[in-house]
Amino acid sequence: MTQYTHPKALPKEFSGPNPATEHTEKKNATVLEELPFDDRQSFENAARGFIASISPLKIKRSEDGKTTYDQSDLSFLEGEAPPTVNPSLWRQAQLNIMHHGLFEVVDGIYQVRSFDIGNMTLVRGNTGWIIIDPLTSAESSRKALDLANEHLGTRPVVAVIYTHSHADHFSGATGVVDFEDVHAGKVQVIAPDHFVKEALSENVLAGNVMLRRATYMYGHLLPHSPQGFITCGLGTQVSVGTIGFIAPTDSITKTGETRVIDGVEIVFQMTPDTEAVSEFVFYFPQFRALCMSEITSHHLHNIYTPRGAQLRDALAWANQINESIDLFGDKLDVLFASHHWPTWGREAAVEYLKTQRDLYKYIHDQTLRLANHGYTKEEIAEQLTLPYSLAKNFSNRDYYGTISHNIKAVYVKYLGYFNGNPATLNPLPPVDAAKRYLDYMGGAEAVIAKAKESFEDGEYRWVAEVMNHVVMAEPENIPAKALLADTYEQLGYQAESGPWRNFYLYGAFELRHGLPEEEPRKLRINLIQGMPLENIFQALAVRLNGPKAEGKRYTFNLNFSDLDTPWIMSVENSVFNAFCNKQDANPTATLNMSSLDFKLMMTGHIKAIDLMSDNRLTLDGDVEKLVEFSELIDKFNQNFPIVTPRDV
Ligand SMILES: [Zn+2]
Repeated sequence: MTQYTHPKALPKEFSGPNPATEHTEKKNATVLEELPFDDRQSFENAARGFIASISPLKIKRSEDGKTTYDQSDLSFLEGEAPPTVNPSLWRQAQLNIMHHGLFEVVDGIYQVRSFDIGNMTLVRGNTGWIIIDPLTSAESSRKALDLANEHLGTRPVVAVIYTHSHADHFSGATGVVDFEDVHAGKVQVIAPDHFVKEALSENVLAGNVMLRRATYMYGHLLPHSPQGFITCGLGTQVSVGTIGFIAPTDSITKTGETRVIDGVEIVFQMTPDTEAVSEFVFYFPQFRALCMSEITSHHLHNIYTPRGAQLRDALAWANQINESIDLFGDKLDVLFASHHWPTWGREAAVEYLKTQRDLYKYIHDQTLRLANHGYTKEEIAEQLTLPYSLAKNFSNRDYYGTISHNIKAVYVKYLGYFNGNPATLNPLPPVDAAKRYLDYMGGAEAVIAKAKESFEDGEYRWVAEVMNHVVMAEPENIPAKALLADTYEQLGYQAESGPWRNFYLYGAFELRHGLPEEEPRKLRINLIQGMPLENIFQALAVRLNGPKAEGKRYTFNLNFSDLDTPWIMSVENSVFNAFCNKQDANPTATLNMSSLDFKLMMTGHIKAIDLMSDNRLTLDGDVEKLVEFSELIDKFNQNFPIVTPRDV
């Protein structure tokens, strides 16, 4: 396992938080002039249909009393925006946090909002509830269901619909349904085509790095305060409770497919390769209601999500919204989604869909226009702003995605990371470059002196760039880290985007306080249970330490007591492969066990030797070879350094 030596925390006098500077105060004040803050329609919609909530807004796990979601200390958001928050983001935070609980969308459709980053929607069928998107954790989804049952009458859950393959919409499923009921056919689970593959590849193959970067993006380790966390933009905050995976029992593959569930008719429109690779939206004829899933929310979404993810297709996104208008635009009374509040009235809903469509299309088309003129992604992001007809609309603002980083995403999707200038084809890695820059610029002290002047002038973006070199070259330099932290902080205070604010403020936080404790990350048992073997093998393949496996060769025949098909698992050429329905004539060893025990063993939850002494594993061959083989599998540390160099 890679060990990191972490730079020390800064002395108390540098530990912040600091007030907004004059430059930040001025910049934030201009936002109030630029946008129509007297437009209160969103506040009316966010409050409409309120039934009940819990107070304080705090959710705990019953087993051990651990708090999994706590937004009870955000009441400071009731006042006016302070100088340390962009007023436009403050408005969005108010909309998210001050409107939590159970709401009626129409008679028969209800939403629980702000019990997690997303919404859980409940549709009343003839006998029970159809649940749309059971949130991120079981504690949040159970609390949401309890609230609905308490105020609307207790009903069994008869079906679950996952709108798409992102964890904040499915990993809380075990809070509202049992594995057994799903397997017994008592509860249907409906999802878009390719859901399992996408859900697991996104969250497992690149899971460790995404999770670490998500700490920055979602800011859940930041204190809640006007100088700290206020919102994620997309919603309040992600809950941190029990996650699980229940695979769908029914997949939708084509636009126009319908299902009748517990007497409720649903018409689906596939929207693949947009906000998620696997996603659909759907219409309820009897309620004249359209669920837009996460295709439209009340902000500009991410074409590229800064926690790290594959790039999304802005043009497909715009086209899918247009198709929703064509299919359902003339017959809807209300539109709701997996985040934020609904839009009532046909005219308002269609107008909202049109501006969302044009938002993504404008970013797509104008980025490529300027790219074709020869501008690089940084140059395009610097000059392109939305036309005022789109920009004045709060539902198009930068609360989650930003125009700036979405432009770069469109550029990279078409043209890749390289801008054509050979100077950028093979640059030195950050620490090497930083040391040389510092040397050329006369050393750290000289750079810090100049950077302090730029800080006084409010040139925070430039100071961040320069001071990052100093910290990368000299991670124990206290004045350097302090100045970089102060700079990130002002950038955070100015940001309109929740993720940008959180990235900057959490970057400052780690520079000031060091990294959280190390914790090697195992795949979680709840997740492993529902994960098909193919996905487990691929997850193991990206954990194989290639250089360590140099020259090694292993072939294991795998026979699973609960499955009909045998597998081969092998390492050769420093590559991990798995082959279904095959057996090797001369294997290193043959293993007989249950598929679940195999998954637990390979993900480090249980040792082969313990399984053997329990008679849960019989092994024909040399057990030492299995141990050797498993030592080639890397463990990932959850808290690798980001704002400081890797090796100190
Ligand atoms: Zn979501």
